[in-house]
Amino acid sequence: MTIKLFNTMSRKIEEFKPLEPGKVGFYVCGPTVYHYTHIGNLRSFIQNDILKRMLIENGYEVTHVMNITDVGHLTSDADSGEDKMEKGAARDNKSVFEVAKFYTDAFIKDFNDLNLISPTHMPKATDYIQEQIDLIQQLEARGYTYKIEDDGIYYDTSKFPGYGKLTGGSLSGDRAGARVEFNNKKRNPTDFALWKFSPKNEKRQMEWDSPWGVGFPGWHTECCAMSMKLLGKHFDIHSGGEDLSRIHHNNEIAQSEPLVGAPWVNYWLHISFLIDKSGEKMSKSKGEFLGMDALRSRGFDSMAYRYLVLLSHFQAQLAFSWEGLEAASNGYKNIVKKLALLLNETDKGNVDRGVYDEWHDKMLSTLSDNMKTAETLVIVQDLLKTSEVNAATKIALFEFVDRLLGLQFIDRAQKFNALEAETAPTEIQSLADARTKAKSEKNWALADELRAKIDAAGWLVTDTKDGSKLIKKS
Ligand code: AMP
Ligand code: ZN
Repeated sequence: MTIKLFNTMSRKIEEFKPLEPGKVGFYVCGPTVYHYTHIGNLRSFIQNDILKRMLIENGYEVTHVMNITDVGHLTSDADSGEDKMEKGAARDNKSVFEVAKFYTDAFIKDFNDLNLISPTHMPKATDYIQEQIDLIQQLEARGYTYKIEDDGIYYDTSKFPGYGKLTGGSLSGDRAGARVEFNNKKRNPTDFALWKFSPKNEKRQMEWDSPWGVGFPGWHTECCAMSMKLLGKHFDIHSGGEDLSRIHHNNEIAQSEPLVGAPWVNYWLHISFLIDKSGEKMSKSKGEFLGMDALRSRGFDSMAYRYLVLLSHFQAQLAFSWEGLEAASNGYKNIVKKLALLLNETDKGNVDRGVYDEWHDKMLSTLSDNMKTAETLVIVQDLLKTSEVNAATKIALFEFVDRLLGLQFIDRAQKFNALEAETAPTEIQSLADARTKAKSEKNWALADELRAKIDAAGWLVTDTKDGSKLIKKS
């Protein structure tokens, strides 16, 4: 099947052609583990998971690398400010290593909960210090670096004629702000740190010896060193959130192409932001953000969030609201309930291969066309509606839909059928009725309190078109 992807580099939708037939090398910039991963970060990882699933269903063997940034990411992408990890350690009163482990574990829990397929490799930047030093030495040998006393080793962007090509920026233009923001010892405002020296008279928790002195690698170097080590000098697809294209990815290209030749990577994918109601990017550094725990504590299934994300295209920003999540959750549950009924049918018939292939191809070709997730979900709805496909074929197709979209429809439908049988005791029912009343009076605090009581008693309350419904927790 033809796969088409919007490539940030060419600013066009292009047909995907792998470097090696049947194989895809895929690199994703992973989280900086100084804080909880928020639902904005997770939006980008969900979209990457969709890309991976689409490639797999098209028969590709995908080698997926997603790094964990546990050193070197400063509060400003222009290499100034504090180290995010050391800042997180001070905030949490823990060592940097404890902080990295704690938030990496929390991230993996969310990752699994959202049914994201584990990467083939999940390297930590701190495990690849030598590779980063080697890469900087190669750049040094080719004359791309210079030293700023008491600061670090810098990359001279004027030496790389293609600098900024990913986003069409120029050396002096789009980052003029960097000059003000940073010291004027840099040769060009776009130059960036490859190796930062530890401050004199200060012992950092994370620091290493290097040919240039004790310090730590700049954030942009890790992805080049790790991707080349694990995927080879050239690979197919590099992805990340839209904030990474202008600085981080242009800098990655500037470090890699002088060493391995152009193009280093064939396809660049950028996932648009999850924004809040005021139109601002959800961001860890602002300190106010929503994690999966916030959604779970309000009774939302992680799949409802996954479903919400898939209702929008990866190139469009998605504005998060609780109302939007509630609507997506109801949409998701409606599909689950209809599928639950199908699973209960006694006379399902046999799988019709011809019909199966027709719907399978329709869904896969739609998703393969620049990842049209919302349109694919419309076909899923149509499949449930049609009376021309028997239950056995629909169920077989849902197994495929679950592989393709990772929405765990069959699992939730089975759980729904198993739990449906139990009726709630009267005291739980009256708590649910009181909650419905509180909601109708817009007394959200009381409604939340009542939900917590119901939850503590072992029941889940869900809102459906026909009013609230109680389901016994498994
Ligand atoms: P970080 O942990 O900040 O290094 O980000 C991890 C990934 O999430 C990167 O690919 C970011 O580009 C992406 N990201 C950060 N904020 C958002 C957001 N609000 N919406 C979508 N993706 C985001
Ligand atoms: Zn990266």
